[in-house]
Amino acid sequence: MEKRVLVLNLDHSPVAVVSAQKAIVLTLLDKANVLSTYDLLEIRTVSRSFEYPAVIRLNHYKNIPYRGVLLNRVNLFRRDKGECQYCGSKRHLTIDHVIPKSKGGKTNWTNLITACNRCNVNKGDKTPEQTGMNLRTFPFKPTLSFFLADYAERQAEEWLPFLSS
Ligand SMILES: [Zn+2]
Repeated sequence: MEKRVLVLNLDHSPVAVVSAQKAIVLTLLDKANVLSTYDLLEIRTVSRSFEYPAVIRLNHYKNIPYRGVLLNRVNLFRRDKGECQYCGSKRHLTIDHVIPKSKGGKTNWTNLITACNRCNVNKGDKTPEQTGMNLRTFPFKPTLSFFLADYAERQAEEWLPFLSS
């Protein structure tokens, strides 16, 4: 699986995650410097090979407004660590509205959770209070740093020294 590259702003705050190809283009254009590489990996082109960047820093400050983490299936499952928030199952995952849409429940980070198909069907069109099904964690709106730390812990420990500051 291809590793991703963490992009830091001039002040070292994380601003984006890009592909290795994009990171190398930024460094070749002198728009960024490589701060850390993945050991034992390299990028090959026809004529040369490059160290595989893990963290790069932009050479000019970029004012990038933070728009929040995109609410989608992949990010929701990741926030919930791929587990049904009622029973903990990791199989047949679906998305559940904690407060059902029919009862005015919203489609947002604090009302959507990961639920296995069985729990979703059992819960049906009821609230957790009505079914007595308890949530294992409270649904929250994740930050960019939450996802960066999550990714770093799973497959890019080279990022960790740059996320703490
Ligand atoms: Zn379940």
